[in-house]
Amino acid sequence: MEEFHNQGELLKVIWKLLYSTSSARDQGTLYAARNTLNARNVTQDPADDYYAASDLVEKVATAYIITGGLTHFGMESIDSIPCKHVYDGEVGNTNDMQEYIFDQARSFVKTFTLPEVPKLPEYGPNCNTYNCRYCGKKYKQPHSLRKHEFSIHGHYDLLFAKEKVSSSKDNENESDGVSAYIKLVLTLGLLRMDRNDAIHMGDGSRMLRIDQFLVLYYKYCHCTKYAFGTLETIAQTEVLLTERQAHRLIWNRTVNHRGDVNTNHPNDLDVEHCNKVFKDFAHSYRGVFTEKVVARVSKSAMKVHEIIKQFDKVCNVRVPSGRHKTCDKEIDIITLVRQFQACNLFDFIPGRSHYAYPNIKENPLTELDIEFVRDWIAASLKKFQNKHFC
Ligand SMILES: [Zn+2]
Repeated sequence: MEEFHNQGELLKVIWKLLYSTSSARDQGTLYAARNTLNARNVTQDPADDYYAASDLVEKVATAYIITGGLTHFGMESIDSIPCKHVYDGEVGNTNDMQEYIFDQARSFVKTFTLPEVPKLPEYGPNCNTYNCRYCGKKYKQPHSLRKHEFSIHGHYDLLFAKEKVSSSKDNENESDGVSAYIKLVLTLGLLRMDRNDAIHMGDGSRMLRIDQFLVLYYKYCHCTKYAFGTLETIAQTEVLLTERQAHRLIWNRTVNHRGDVNTNHPNDLDVEHCNKVFKDFAHSYRGVFTEKVVARVSKSAMKVHEIIKQFDKVCNVRVPSGRHKTCDKEIDIITLVRQFQACNLFDFIPGRSHYAYPNIKENPLTELDIEFVRDWIAASLKKFQNKHFC
């Protein structure tokens, strides 16, 4: 699975779940923030301008973190003194201070993100050959296996069990749609930041850990190819490759031209420099943007970019970076923080919701048909089985 496209696909997930042009009046939503910041390059398709979309997500997520932090510490603005969760340890003791701030951050993350993922069911086939988990008897149909395990061995199965475990405990009246939206923004925003950071640090192991969350979100949003591709990479590193090959795959996913600890880039495409070329190329394929086209374009875009760079060098052309300055970014984030603060976003107010998201689920992953996901994983493993990896 290629890194650059993985990052783009995560934006698509965020857009599917959280971007709606009918949410202009819903303060705190991505689209309202886009209008506030006048980020006109951000459109309904994040692929139109990867950087613009990426910038918006980062700014909104950061503004949420700051606003949430202000609420957590009972602060009126970023310059005021905390009234809640006040540090009462020794000032100057860096160990204590650090531990305290990590504790506070941990409790914030626990409250405002959704780290829970649904577990695979403990009934039904647990291997592709449909053997009984107790006596090993082999079945042709998963249904017969389940019936056998239930009736002969008394293994719990939702399908046959009389007393159903009630899983939904959410009371419609008690949910806060605005709060649910925030949690999703923070969850996906932080996963994305974490993943970007992992890429910059060349931390392949962390990238894969985050990918395990992403598979489920891809699955939920019907991003079929990416769900399959990411699962394939995980399966490669976990079971399909030798230890040596797996180690190479995990730690060979980035390149580092500048040689600082945090200057790694995905090795499939040098995003920082080639994105523009890539986009120009990809533009001519609008409408038929298949995985094959993406692969072809990213290959040729690299070559073209090399040629252009060489040309500029020979002709002494200076290329403007085209990226916003850090201070512009800060101003944008502070603008959003002020706006978010005025809306009491981080208070829990049962019954409220954004106009554009009347029925938003607090954790969309709990909506996944997990039996279906299990069967999909099993079927995918069967497909990988026939491929040759090296
Ligand atoms: Zn049996």
